[in-house]
Amino acid sequence: MKKIGVLTSGGDSPGMNAAVRAVVRKAIFQNIEVYGIYQGYNGLINGNIKKLELGSVGDIIHRGGTMLYTARCEEFKTKEGQQKGIQQLEKHGIEGLVVIGGDGSYQGAKALTELGYPCVGVPGTIDNDIPGTEYTIGFDTALNTVIDAIDKIRDTATSHERTFVIEVMGRNAGDIALWSGLAGGAETILIPEEKFDLNDVVSRLKKGQERGKKHSVIIVAEGVMSANEFANRFTEATGMDTRVSVLGHIQRGGTPTASDRVLASRLGARAVELLMEGKGGRAVGIEKNQLVDYDIIEALAKPHQIDLEMYNLSKELSI
Ligand code: ADP
Repeated sequence: MKKIGVLTSGGDSPGMNAAVRAVVRKAIFQNIEVYGIYQGYNGLINGNIKKLELGSVGDIIHRGGTMLYTARCEEFKTKEGQQKGIQQLEKHGIEGLVVIGGDGSYQGAKALTELGYPCVGVPGTIDNDIPGTEYTIGFDTALNTVIDAIDKIRDTATSHERTFVIEVMGRNAGDIALWSGLAGGAETILIPEEKFDLNDVVSRLKKGQERGKKHSVIIVAEGVMSANEFANRFTEATGMDTRVSVLGHIQRGGTPTASDRVLASRLGARAVELLMEGKGGRAVGIEKNQLVDYDIIEALAKPHQIDLEMYNLSKELSI
């Protein structure tokens, strides 16, 4: 393989830049030319493709977002769109593609694989919802942003003896809610993977108040419902007032943590190695701190698993 491409797609995540840098540097180190495809699959279809040099990825390892920009592209969900993409790659002589993104972007990589074009997926999303990897690039940074916010909200919650409902991202996965709730000492964590009982939430809260708790923090994953909706239901059931905080897009931005930068560097470089070994149709991941790779089509057929032991622990620790 003499020329490869790299793109970032879907929701951006902190550490995507470190992954792009790793792809570019690893490839050039191996005498392979690298082309940046700008604005995800949109740029692929439209031929927004430029050669990247060592210096093109200088001074980005510590920056959030993605220097290649990202986009959502409906056309790429069609066969015609995918074929246009392959034509662009062939026109530039690009023989393999690294796709950095979430599960939607993986579907795009899977589609190209099924059309016979070699692709490797690198898990870049704050949601931590990609099967086949314990962690995705950006999850750790998002988590730290959320914990920082919870700590601040806890200060004001305690001072005013209030109940706060905090909505966090994660799409259909509860990982950000679970991890941040456990690390932030939330009284209740609501995740889409587990049904909740409002009576149980209320009785736990009341028990806490009886033993002198001055505040309560309830974390709601966006995949469950909005924090406003939950707060309304809670107030209807208890007559108690709450305050709502929707953290929103701050969770996507910011300087990637050391952990995300290391993960991105390792996964990005491994993706290049796989293409060099002629292994397309793969996705890279990390399990027990070891790099792994797996068939992208098989992986996408598996559901994302949340750590239910951790969920149960969070309940035990927040009595
Ligand atoms: P993420 O990658 O963060 O999950 P999206 O779900 O929005 O983000 O997906 C990003 C892009 O991936 C979509 O805009 C589309 O171009 C492409 N994509 C998503 N699903 C498919 C699919 N089934 N087939 C081909 N491409 C897809």
